[in-house]
Amino acid sequence: MSQHILILAGDGIGPEIMAAAEKVLNRANEKFSLDLTWSHGLLGGSAIDAHGVPLPDVTLDAAKKADAVLLGAVGGPKWDNIERSIRPERGLLKIRSELNLFANLRPAILYPQLADASSLKPEIVAGLDILIVRELTGGIYFGQPRGIRVLENGEKQGYNTDVYAESEIKRIAKVAFNMATLRAKDGVAKVCSVDKANVLEVTELWKQTVTDLAAAEYPDVKLSHMYVDNAAMQLVRNPKQFDVIVTGNLFGDILSDEAAMLTGSIGMLPSASLDENGKGMYEPCHGSAPDIAGQDLANPLATILSVAMMLRYTFKQEAAAKAIETAVGVVLDQGLRTGDIMSAGMTKIGTQAMGEAVLKALG
Ligand code: NAD
Repeated sequence: MSQHILILAGDGIGPEIMAAAEKVLNRANEKFSLDLTWSHGLLGGSAIDAHGVPLPDVTLDAAKKADAVLLGAVGGPKWDNIERSIRPERGLLKIRSELNLFANLRPAILYPQLADASSLKPEIVAGLDILIVRELTGGIYFGQPRGIRVLENGEKQGYNTDVYAESEIKRIAKVAFNMATLRAKDGVAKVCSVDKANVLEVTELWKQTVTDLAAAEYPDVKLSHMYVDNAAMQLVRNPKQFDVIVTGNLFGDILSDEAAMLTGSIGMLPSASLDENGKGMYEPCHGSAPDIAGQDLANPLATILSVAMMLRYTFKQEAAAKAIETAVGVVLDQGLRTGDIMSAGMTKIGTQAMGEAVLKALG
């Protein structure tokens, strides 16, 4: 039976990068007889313009019915000054929580061809391949109570609540342990759980729960723990010591962006957000880049690599996923670069030409 994808191109460079990714999806669908179908919907600023809200019911219904969602990026200056509750980013937060996408997978991979793009020394980052598993629907971003109140002395006070139940910690830790097992190198699966257990009780429970789960169900996984401040330092000092990092929403937000920047090319990084059944939303890590929108300058490779992640994790089509990733490697070997990853001696091309080059390499 055919499976269905909802495509949400979004705003800014979204439509351009998605056009390139959709062609690659189409080619993979034919070449590997994947029997996938897809349709399009609106999210973010484009949905505000058409429906007055960033996540219209029609989009949410379609997303719930689909087996996977492929997203470009949302937001832009046009919608920066509208009321906070209907800003484009609210649509993104809502679709993630409505679909129960609690596990955010952010690979930080540095293609050897792009080692010069990093601000770190090539020997520290070349061949980097780590996966950050971030809890996405809990913790301080959603915890109640929250708000800004006025104290008795008239001063305002802002407050948020960091909360995690054992069940939430266990389900994200399981994703991390399973991913580490899949990625095991030389038979060793490695997970580093990041917390601030010396200061925050919520992460003391996190650490204990992860430790107990590993002992009970994943005795073969090599589990380590690190405080978040040290993890931030170690990511810059010696990032290749990590394989899978698992952490909560707030720490994961910061560490995954830090890890992304290690690669020096945010235009290369895909991401996945999964629910308990493997349904997922797949999107590039970058935003809608309004500064370069509509100019054929955007790098479509993060979105194309998001298609590969979707084929791997939701549709279990490893061969097709690998073929797309290999095609991206071939294009880089050919010296083809968009502006964001350009370096001396390479050939600068635009969004469309990059998409066509991947199609050609895919065969
Ligand atoms: P951004 O990621 O859009 O852009 C940061 C810089 O990286 C810009 O200079 C941009 O030109 C460049 N860049 C980003 N993607 C690129 C690509 N594929 N190819 C080449 N260059 C690329 O971040 P920002 O400027 O902070 O945010 C712009 C808008 O995007 C804001 O409205 C923000 O809210 C939104 N945003 C959306 C998402 C999302 O949809 N998931 C994520 C982050 C930011």
